[in-house]
Amino acid sequence: MDFHLDALLNLPYITVESCIQQEQGVLLKLRCLNEQSDCPHCQHPSYEMHQNRPVLIRDLSVFGQLTQLQVPRRQFYCGNCQRYFTERLSFVDWERRYTQRYEEHLYQQVQSSSIEQVSRMENLSWDQVQGVFMHRFSQEKKQAGRS
Ligand SMILES: [Zn+2]
Repeated sequence: MDFHLDALLNLPYITVESCIQQEQGVLLKLRCLNEQSDCPHCQHPSYEMHQNRPVLIRDLSVFGQLTQLQVPRRQFYCGNCQRYFTERLSFVDWERRYTQRYEEHLYQQVQSSSIEQVSRMENLSWDQVQGVFMHRFSQEKKQAGRS
């Protein structure tokens, strides 16, 4: 839609289709620019998109406005191993409803204040913030274990 908006969003192979002002903030509808996805089972590229069921994902606030992304969740068919697979996006962890950078932001915020305060500031429930914190915490532990 708009080159500047894509540059601001700064996500790989993603373009902004539309930007909708909502009561709570803004909703950016996104589209994937790459037509293929690599099969996670056999690593062959697939160009056969089977279906797309977009999901809403929370991202960092833009100019002080709560920001949600409508992200394509594409399912492909791999002709090589004859299986369906759902595309994994590099900027959202598997089955999460927040971008990685937003989860990292929340994680940092909680460390310097509290879950209570962050949930109020970010308009999230206590459980949501705690869920993100635990997710990030377990990932850091995994990474520390690897190195
Ligand atoms: Zn395959």
